[in-house]
Amino acid sequence: MTSAEIRQSFLDFFASKQHTIVPSASLMPDSPGLLFTNAGMNQFVPIFLGEQAPDVTSWAGAIPSSDSRATDTQKCIRAGGKHNDLEDVGYDTYHHTLFEMLGNWSFGDYFKEESITWGWELLTKVWGIPAKRLFATVYSPDVAAGDPSEFDTEAHAIWKAIFEAEGLDPAVHIVNGNKKDNFWMMGDTGPCGPCSELHFNLRESDDEAEGRSRVNADDPRCIEIWNLVFIQFNANADGTFSPLAAQHVDTGMGFERVAGIYATTNGFTDFTKEPSNYAADVFAPLFAKVTELSGKTYGETVPTKREGLSEQENTDIAFRVLADHARTISCAIADNILPGNEGRNYVIRRILRRGILYGKKLGLTTGFFEQLVPAVVESLGPVFPELIEKQVIIRKVIKSEEESFGRTLERGLRLFEEIAVTLKEFGKDADTPEAGKWKHPSDREPCKIIAGKWAFQLYDTFGFPLDMTQLLATERGLTVDVDGFNELMEQQRDRARAAQKKEVIVAATEGETQVNHAATEFTGYDFGNLTAFASS
Ligand code: ATP
Ligand code: MG
Ligand code: MG
Ligand code: MG
Repeated sequence: MTSAEIRQSFLDFFASKQHTIVPSASLMPDSPGLLFTNAGMNQFVPIFLGEQAPDVTSWAGAIPSSDSRATDTQKCIRAGGKHNDLEDVGYDTYHHTLFEMLGNWSFGDYFKEESITWGWELLTKVWGIPAKRLFATVYSPDVAAGDPSEFDTEAHAIWKAIFEAEGLDPAVHIVNGNKKDNFWMMGDTGPCGPCSELHFNLRESDDEAEGRSRVNADDPRCIEIWNLVFIQFNANADGTFSPLAAQHVDTGMGFERVAGIYATTNGFTDFTKEPSNYAADVFAPLFAKVTELSGKTYGETVPTKREGLSEQENTDIAFRVLADHARTISCAIADNILPGNEGRNYVIRRILRRGILYGKKLGLTTGFFEQLVPAVVESLGPVFPELIEKQVIIRKVIKSEEESFGRTLERGLRLFEEIAVTLKEFGKDADTPEAGKWKHPSDREPCKIIAGKWAFQLYDTFGFPLDMTQLLATERGLTVDVDGFNELMEQQRDRARAAQKKEVIVAATEGETQVNHAATEFTGYDFGNLTAFASS
């Protein structure tokens, strides 16, 4: 199967179980408190809460079947808030900032029995995944730690029967997990509940005890592919959980994970190769473009540490980061989330700047990032047509961001270099410049912390987001004084607030109706500016 066929096969399977196929929701979430849509269930929150009827057949773009069952592939971004995978991107092969979550839902309709049975049927019967290689987790609360509800005996009993029917030992294939791994929440509040997850043992040996010991152990060769959540509570703002009026099913499968595994295992049959999401054909046009632009070759290496990496490891990280970030930025802009200075807009700006930095590591020069957009459109456009519609705007926005950041990037990197070298050579007083020169301290004790004021200068003068400075620091075995940085940020905000107040007072006393903002610094785009781009 191609990736597109895997996606379609999932949707068709649930359509055959009377699920209405609905389009992906926008990455801009409706739920307050969410930075981005981070799971397939987000768009169904009002239904789970009983605020909206489960009439999904009437949804725009739906392929109708039952009112109370839905299936789709949902664009998700996990780069902030409760679910933030940004720092893993590039360094591992199975966390993206943007990914597709395949899901099926029951709105007060079927519950655990059908959810588990159908999940098993799709994986083992339709897709032919060897049952021996699958492990199911079940919610087992740590009562002493205050985890909600009771052990999920229902899910346990269903899994037990399934594994027994396969001739497998349930004591080996069912793994208990507490709130951290087996109680799913989209954020601090909202619909939530116990879950059962499917983990796929991709190690060469299909030894079951060995596979079991790797579940939830952050092992890319025993990986979580599907989460079946049994929504039955609402998490309240005060930290308590209230039972919902009805019980629902919410599942989420990592599409790129399954597609990547399918590719590296030759259709779930050969477990000798290292698995990687990036082996999925959805990434192929992006990798081809990065190769074309950089002249470099992707070597499939995965680092085991963060500093002192080989040239090939650095190249491979950069390939993965660019492929990932180009998708994220393009899809975000297509959904009207533009790079900016605050909140989710700043997250998008940070991701783009991070991408530009990694491009530089491949020797790419300013202007390369927007050239990745057609590759995103080629692979995702058929599924998310807004990418096709908005591609010109997406490129314009990225181009303009690249130009403004490209102007200061070089100089910022030079300053960073100077700081790093000076810390190494001159020790802990190295952050004391005098007349533009580094003061040679008497004390040569080595220093591994970049002072907050340098991180702040990199941010304020050169546009380096804090996490970018941290990234550069980590590569050198350095850390950043985050508290010191935050203090300076706070002072800057205070100054800005004071200046704004003064401006208003002056305007009021002079009887003006409008404050003159001509001198205000350009702070990036905001919502609604898409129209400005469209007409420019
Ligand atoms: P993990 O433990 O691997 O970080 P998760 O438990 O945070 O995953 P869920 O919230 O359960 O993930 O999401 C459902 C599914 O989405 C996961 O089983 C996984 O297959 C996939 N998934 C989660 N995060 C990512 C990501 N950052 N990139 C790609 N796929 C992901
Ligand atoms: Mg996670
Ligand atoms: Mg997990
Ligand atoms: Mg999970």
